[in-house]
Formats: sequence, C-alpha cells, structure tokens
Amino acid sequence: MASAPLKSALLIVSTTAAQDAAADASGPILTQVLKDEGDGKWEVLETAIVSDDVLQIQRQIIAWTDGPDGINLIVTTGGTGFASSDGTPEAVIPLLHKQAPGLVHGMLAASLQVTPFAMMSRPVAGVRNKSIIVTLPGSPKGAKENLQAIIKTLPHACLQASGANSRVLHSGGVKKLESEAGISGSESQPADQGHHCHHHHGHGHGQSHGNLVRHTNPSALSNDPSLGPSRRHRESPYPMLSVDDALALIAEHTPEPEVITAKVDGTIIGSVLAEDVSAKENVPAFRASIVDGYAYIAPKNGHFKGVFPVTAVSHAAPGEIGSLKDGELARITTGAPLPPGATSVIMVEDTIIKTMTDDGKEEKEIEIDVQGVKEGDNVREIGSDIKEGTTILKKGELISAVGGEIGLLAAVGVAEAKVYRRPVIGILSTGDEIIEHNRPGALKLGEVRDTNRITLMSAVKEWGFEVVDLGIAKDKRGSLEETLRDGLRRADLLITSGGVSMGELDLLKPTIERSLGGTIHFGRVAMKPGKPTTFATVPVKDNAGQRVSKAIFSLPGNPASALVTFHLFVLPALHKLAGASPVGLPKVPAILSHEFSLDPRPEYHRVVVTVGNDGLLSATSTGGQRSSKVGSLRSANALVCLPSGKGVLEKGTKVDVLLMNNIRGA
Ligand code: AMP
Ligand code: MG
Repeated sequence: MASAPLKSALLIVSTTAAQDAAADASGPILTQVLKDEGDGKWEVLETAIVSDDVLQIQRQIIAWTDGPDGINLIVTTGGTGFASSDGTPEAVIPLLHKQAPGLVHGMLAASLQVTPFAMMSRPVAGVRNKSIIVTLPGSPKGAKENLQAIIKTLPHACLQASGANSRVLHSGGVKKLESEAGISGSESQPADQGHHCHHHHGHGHGQSHGNLVRHTNPSALSNDPSLGPSRRHRESPYPMLSVDDALALIAEHTPEPEVITAKVDGTIIGSVLAEDVSAKENVPAFRASIVDGYAYIAPKNGHFKGVFPVTAVSHAAPGEIGSLKDGELARITTGAPLPPGATSVIMVEDTIIKTMTDDGKEEKEIEIDVQGVKEGDNVREIGSDIKEGTTILKKGELISAVGGEIGLLAAVGVAEAKVYRRPVIGILSTGDEIIEHNRPGALKLGEVRDTNRITLMSAVKEWGFEVVDLGIAKDKRGSLEETLRDGLRRADLLITSGGVSMGELDLLKPTIERSLGGTIHFGRVAMKPGKPTTFATVPVKDNAGQRVSKAIFSLPGNPASALVTFHLFVLPALHKLAGASPVGLPKVPAILSHEFSLDPRPEYHRVVVTVGNDGLLSATSTGGQRSSKVGSLRSANALVCLPSGKGVLEKGTKVDVLLMNNIRGA
C-alpha cells in the first residue's frame, strides 16, 4: 500500500448546520473515525457545510472531484432519508461515473444489524473521476457506524480509483488484501481486544475499532426462562463491548439530573449546585474591628498622641452605638462594629491606662503616642470579604462536607439554592444460595454469605449517595421482578449483583427485558474482572405520574467483580444523576512497583498506591486477582488499568491508575 496518506473531504449536508456550524455533530465524529480507525491512512483535507440543496451539493463535490487536488474519498453526511428535503443521493447519482453497490450493501448490512430503521437510509456510493464518493446518513451514530463498516476496504478502492495498477494491487489474492486492510473475512464480529483502557469519563463517543458495535438487538435477546435449560442460549447473545463503549452508553442513557430547590442546612451537603449563587449581603455587613482596642478618629498628620477619655464600649453584639467625637475613644472588641464617626482602631497593646473610673471597674482615660496612623487602620470595611451581588459559587460546584461551601452560603445569607437532587440508590443481591451475612450458625452446603450488598451499600454511601436496602431476591422470576419493582418505586437507580452470567437461573436480563419492558444497553464487556456487567434502563412512572426512565446496573456476583465494576461503571452514572462532573474515579499516573502479567482481556487489577519519597506514586498488586476473591480488595485504594496482551508489563512502567480511596504515604 502507498505510504502517503489518502486525501479525504467531508461534506456536511444540513440546512441547520449551514446556518450554524456548531449544529454539526457528525463532521467531528467522522473526522475522528478516519483518524482513529483508518490505520493512519487518511488525512481529512477539507470539510464543507452546505444546505439540503442539490445544486450546492453538486457544486462542492465537483470542486473536489474535478479540481486539481485529487481528493481520494468524499464522504457526505445528511440528506439520505425520506423527508422532502432529503436529496443527497439525487444530487450525487448523476455525478457518478461508476456506481459502487457493494459499498452501499456493506453499509446497509451493518446498520441493519443495529436497527431495522437502517431501511430508512438510501445511501449511494461510486466513483467520479479519481474520487470515491460515499453518502452517509446525517445522524452521528448512523454515519459513524456506516463509515466504520466500510473504512477498512476504502483505501484499496481509492487506490484503484486513483489509477493504481490493479494487477499489482491484487497480486497475493483476497487474503492478502484482507490482511493489509486489517479485516478478516471469516470472523464477523471479533471481540474488541487490544483495548487500552482509555477512559473518556462521561463523554466518550468511543466505539470499537473498525467493527460494528451491536448495542441492542431488535429481536428478544435474553433467554426465555420458561423454555428450560436445554433451550437457553449456549453463548451470550450480547455483543462484547469495550470498556470505553460501555462507558459511552452509560453516559448516553443515564437519565439527566433533576433540579430542586434545597434549604441551606445539613441536608444540602453532598449536592451539586444547579445555578450560580451570588451573595445576598455584604460580608462584613458593617465596619468591623480586626483587633481588641479603641476606636478613634485618626488625626490628619498621622500622629496620634494624648490622653483620651473612653466614652463608649462596642462589643461584638448587635445594638445601637452613639457616634464618636474627635478626641474620644470607644473601647472595641474584635469583630465589633465601629461607632459612627470612628475611622480607625488602635490595638490595646499600643495603649496605656491612665485613669480608672471611681469604682475602679472601668477604664476612664487612655494614653496613646503612636506615629503613622491613618483612616481604616485595623478595620474590615463593609463588603471587603464578600461584596453583595458577587458570584460566590458556580453551577456544578459540589457543596462538600469539608470544602467550606456551606459556610460561604451561610455567611452571605443564602437560605436556599437550586441543586441537583441527590439520587437514591437501591441495592439488592440475588441468588438462592445467598444468605444474610450476619445469620448466626454454620453455613449449610452451598450457602454463601451476602458479601456484595453490604459492600456496595457502604461504597455508595462513601461516595455521598443515599441508599435503600432492597434485600436479597431469590432466583425466581416472581421474587426478582417484585424486588426490582419495589426498588424502582423507592430508588432512582438500582444496583443488583449476581444472576447475570449464563447459568440457567440467571434471570436478570430476561426479567428486565420481558417483565419490566426495559432496554439492555449492554450485557457483556471485554474486561477482567466483570465480563457479564449489564446496564439497562426501564420506563417507569414517577410520583407525579410522569414517564421517566431509571437505570439498572446488574453487576457480576463475584465480590471482587462487583466492587470493581461498581467503581468503573456505576459511579459515573451516579455522578451524572447527581449533576457532578467530572464523572467516575479520578485517574492519575503511577509507576508499577513490580512486574504485572498481562491477560488477553484488559484487566482492572486491584492495587495499593502509595506516594514515595520522590513524590511519585507507585502501584503494588494486592495479590491474587481471582474475581471471587474478596481479599483482593482489602486495602486496595486504586485500580490499575492493564492493557490486554501477552507477557508482562515491566516494573517501572508508567500506567494510569483509577483512585478509589486516599493515597497513603510509603
Ligand atoms: P452469579 O452471577 O449469580 O452466577 O454469581 C457468581 C458467583 O458469585 C457465585 O459463586 C455466587 O454465589 C457469588 N455471589 C453472588 N452474589 C453474591 C453475594 N451477594 N455475595 C457473595 N457472593 C455472591
Ligand atoms: Mg446467582
């Protein structure tokens, strides 16, 4: 293959985007696909936006195909539907010197696997002069999927179209072409291996590389439990997603946070502000003394000298104070208001008592001799800490228990604020073998103490969310459905554990899909531990009778898997529901303190991260990582994201770690 990059151009066909380029979401995504999934073969030379107008479309395409630039690939997006304004295929067809129905077929076949609505797209593809032209739908997701479906074959098509010697190109046969293109004809949907744990927290658009990602399936996916074990699927019908793709779906489908007005008291702690808050009052609200001493009127020449009578006292207490006259002092305490007329305060340390009152209880006269005094000495002016009307906290800020935000709200007289409602999280365990963790007595054969529920409840609380304990559901459809329905009434988001692997009693997916009418957004993730992690949303009515959707995370039953997947997948959703950003665990670089063996799946290895004398963070494994092994999480404060692969990552390698807890000193 030629090493110089192939030249591509993007044509956004959208009347809206033509008026406001910011409305175009597809252009940047397609550019990204060409960059990320084009194996470095593409360069996007030009991007243009035109209205849904046949002439404008044709003019731009001709400028590219008939011009001197020799564009190899023109990708259009938009105008391929059935609406009266959709005319991109009509604009392109007359321009084509050769049609390319194979590319059209490839795109449609891929899209139809995702949704039957792909039938509503009318793509065309072909060659004009030396350029390949492909029309993609306007929706960012559809456009991306279509481009991903054909991207591996396009370099070859472009080289042929540009006039390369086809005998040379084809020497070596189809297998060689496939391997050069990085595709395999026999393997239709390889699991997304080689994924390197790049997290786009909260805003990933990631799809797997070059392969169509099947998010949902229009036909029933889950087992029909009534059919019995012999009829269940032998292999999970859910496509294996990369962690990034799973995170992107979570970001997309987790419901938006709800805005409420909250009173500024202890209950607001842990909430995120949904509005900028400005100071209702000045702080301080009056001219206040910074020291214990005497208020006075500063002489113009700065030399404050003489014996002065103490005519008033100002304590830090509300009340009226008479005005001060020249040559008089008012005794004043720290934080107390200056009497009207006073300009400054002198510290008690700079004064001497001259005489006392007759009863000997009060100071009568004070002697002072200091140079360089001026107006405003030792005085906090009105609003000098916070001016009335200034923004004190911004939308999106967390009102933390330790961060002083609550103090700020209190100081300026803000009694209530708009915040995102803090979600209530319902947590249940599933499994006939699971018993309460504190049930007295020895275990009977097969019994397992409920480890996950109490662990997840404490983790959710630690991250600042409210928890509802939904108990243990039996592996019976009725029990599970009833517990889930109860949970959906009482909580905003549910976390279950167990019951998501391929066992015949694994009822979660079928119950969510068949009994609750939910949508499973993913049911398998290429990772270790946590492969069967499942994310779904179900439609429910809220208390006001409004249709809303609630998220359910069904985590694997093995305790280590459950806790790892909680941190990786559920936490970002909790953050989104609570209006917090960035979402998910904070990510920091660290150095491996010993070698780590790699696994064919990306692995989230439990580690202890400590800070060394050099200030660098180092990560040490907590030991055996079997997913059932609860002990692997003891003292773990981070997850290290090991890429899939063979062999080892050497000691000293710099990696990213996701922090679950505070870092300790070495
Ligand atoms: P499952 O996904 O239901 O097949 O569960 C996988 C494994 O995790 C089984 O060995 C279960 O016994 C175990 N398991 C499931 N739920 C829990 C739980 N709440 N606490 C401890 N172990 C569990
Ligand atoms: Mg189970």
